[in-house]
Amino acid sequence: MNKIQMATPLVEMDGDEMTRIIWKMIKEILLTPYVDLKTEYYDLSLENRDATNDQVTFDSAYATKKYGVAVKCATITANADRVREYGLKEMWKSPNGTIRAILDGTVFRSPILVKGITPFITTWKKPITIARHAYGDIYRNTEMTVPAGAKAELVVTKADGTEERSLIHDFETSGIIQGQHNIDKSIESFAHSCFSYALDVKQDVWFSTKDTISKKYDHRFKDIFQETYETEYKEKFEKAGITYFYTLIDDAVARVIRSEGGYIWACKNYDGDVMSDMVATAFGSLAMMTSVLVSPDGIYEYEAAHGTVQRHYYKHLKGEKTSTNSMATLFAWTGALKKRGELDHLPALVDFADKLEKASVQTVENGMMTGDLAALSTLPNKTAVDTETFLKEVNKSLIRLL
Ligand code: NAD
Repeated sequence: MNKIQMATPLVEMDGDEMTRIIWKMIKEILLTPYVDLKTEYYDLSLENRDATNDQVTFDSAYATKKYGVAVKCATITANADRVREYGLKEMWKSPNGTIRAILDGTVFRSPILVKGITPFITTWKKPITIARHAYGDIYRNTEMTVPAGAKAELVVTKADGTEERSLIHDFETSGIIQGQHNIDKSIESFAHSCFSYALDVKQDVWFSTKDTISKKYDHRFKDIFQETYETEYKEKFEKAGITYFYTLIDDAVARVIRSEGGYIWACKNYDGDVMSDMVATAFGSLAMMTSVLVSPDGIYEYEAAHGTVQRHYYKHLKGEKTSTNSMATLFAWTGALKKRGELDHLPALVDFADKLEKASVQTVENGMMTGDLAALSTLPNKTAVDTETFLKEVNKSLIRLL
């Protein structure tokens, strides 16, 4: 069989622990036998980030800017334990944070739906994608505890030295205050990412804030979205047959629960943080969540939403077989290959990625799955298999589809 050819390399960001093991298996069992895989490889393992003083993370992000599409394996975010475990020179920053800061993107997370794993919300039939604004608000806040008798004010010192003041509270008894900010440009980028991703996947966009209470802060988000939509996307949305819908966050929550899914829910930073975990859990499993970072200028970085599955890795190191779910990592690869195929006009590559997704869903729906899914699945006949056996079963389904 002739292998499928690629035109432009994918930026390949390898990672850590169990997901690094899965990464290699996916390539060997499901990709390289069929595709003449062209990648520019960056080793983002913690060892190599330490050896390169984290330069490799920056290089991989710049390569993504250059080529437009990346696929990333889960990576360890260093903490005090990891500094000891790996003897690190420094507590290196989260690679995802570094990459996101360089690409200035929005993260879209969607579940992979399979029969037998029923969402806890029985009305949900299609995936709900959460788009989380990943800048500012309480994540870049300044907070203080305030003693009794103090007066707290918001003070803005303008470029010309003049001041604008506003009373926060006269504290008769002790209390707390918090200052937070956001930037118009970041909100505009967020809006562009959401609208262009919606056009890409042909799904409606819902956006929600609390603008009735926060008449300047949240209202600014609402206005920027509306303006961006009217001036640049309205016509394109109408042509694509999709809609933009704004509502209050509390109304949005009620509608989401009653909906059947199938749309993108754009959320402010905190709402997105909370709602993405709620949606992931309600759909059944973190191991079935895919994630893609989309920059406002159309750069894509695909990954699984879960971490490096550390517990399984230690079992693997002891020589034990693990039953680690590889679906989300596999979908990161298919997402990236599909996007590369679309951009380079390679229908064979797009078709292969589609079939590989179908094959992995079919494998689970036919009852072959990893332990985490076997514990959730309502299928009458199911078999829990180890990591490698699962991928080999996917390969059998893939051969039938090809
Ligand atoms: P984790 O996602 O690796 O695991 C959380 C829980 O979910 C564990 O109980 C695990 O067994 C289970 N789980 C997750 N994915 C699974 C899969 N594919 N198959 C079966 N079970 C699965 O998160 P964690 O344990 O909090 O973190 C481990 C490491 O991953 C940390 O060092 C953290 O920094 C890193 N991390 C990286 C990313 C990323 O690169 N995007 C995201 C989150 C965590």
